[in-house]
Amino acid sequence: MNATEIKKLDNEKIVGTYGRYDLVAAEGKGARCIAADGREYIDFTAGIGVNSLGFCDDSWVEAVAAQLKKLQHVSNLFYTEPQVQAAQLLTERTGLEKAFFGNSGAEANEAAIKTARKYGTTKKGAQVNQIITLENSFHGRTMATITATGQNHYHQYFTPFLDGFVYCPANDVQKLEQLADEKVCAIMMEVIQGEGGVLALEEDFVRKAAEICREKDILLIIDEVQTGIGRTGKLFAYEHYGIQPDIVTFAKGIGGGLPIGGALFGPKTCDVLQPGDHGTTYGGNPVACAGAVEVLHRIDAQFLQEVAEKGAYLKEELLKLPQIKEVSGMGMMLGAVLEGKAAAEVVKDALASGLMLLTAKDRVRLLPPLTITKEELNAGLSILKEVIK
Ligand code: PLP
Repeated sequence: MNATEIKKLDNEKIVGTYGRYDLVAAEGKGARCIAADGREYIDFTAGIGVNSLGFCDDSWVEAVAAQLKKLQHVSNLFYTEPQVQAAQLLTERTGLEKAFFGNSGAEANEAAIKTARKYGTTKKGAQVNQIITLENSFHGRTMATITATGQNHYHQYFTPFLDGFVYCPANDVQKLEQLADEKVCAIMMEVIQGEGGVLALEEDFVRKAAEICREKDILLIIDEVQTGIGRTGKLFAYEHYGIQPDIVTFAKGIGGGLPIGGALFGPKTCDVLQPGDHGTTYGGNPVACAGAVEVLHRIDAQFLQEVAEKGAYLKEELLKLPQIKEVSGMGMMLGAVLEGKAAAEVVKDALASGLMLLTAKDRVRLLPPLTITKEELNAGLSILKEVIK
């Protein structure tokens, strides 16, 4: 099929939940994507923060293909080596105790929400089931996670929503203290609100939330679906804040492109879920876990240092452009505020000129593959410069 035929069939046969950009992706290598018409693009999106090692990284392909030739799936009724390897790497590097694997960010958060409710209701009483999330947050698209998401835009249809979620304005310590009453079992937050506009929470607020949780035996859940797995220059972004969460959820970057997500549990929470409480057929699939193991091996201290340096360089170069008024975020998760041209326009025009970009609310969002080279960063930046001129 050529590009026109693919787009036509997509229009006819795929439910219209996505406003797609005008690119039929056919192949990719590193930070370069080749479209069906042969055109090459610089990728500043990493498949919305998923392709942490870029397109078709050689060692990642080798690790995934080797597993694919051995065993593709067996279900969670049996043991497999890649799943325990991924869990071991994640727990060793975070000091958390145990992992649960699902297939996406929303599923990761579902596991955290269920764990928090079981913890609260079994330890303290049936009424201890409330979860505080933040206004402007994003936690997924399932019924529980859209309810957890603190944006009215996501609460338009699909009623009734779940009971037991309360929303606190980001960075409002006083309100958080007021909301954290005896019915609350968990506080859940992204330390950088990704879909909400790449907005990092204030350090005082995050530390205070951790303190409230410690004092009141409330669980602290950090959603690292977008910020995790090296994206901000640390394995997990909560490390920038000097806190230790009770549950950390992850997805996107860990699989390097394969669908995998999950949650990590600390000492208070690692034995809350018991046989029969939770599960998923595909979660921790050996092929996805083989990809995750390769990603985790690659993201060592040197790699993280490079992410931090490349992120700082990207931010510095963006701020040199007179049309860019502000750059938020950390490492290679950045949001640029522009003057004179709407973010959506910039992204559309950049694509027409060979650069893949994202928006986050009214900002241009940049999530390049973590392995992007300086030369590829410069190639993308020069396209952006032309587009916003
Ligand atoms: N949590 C955060 C912070 C996210 O950014 C996302 C997706 O963008 C999700 C959860 C949901 O992840 P998924 O789309 O894999 O279900």
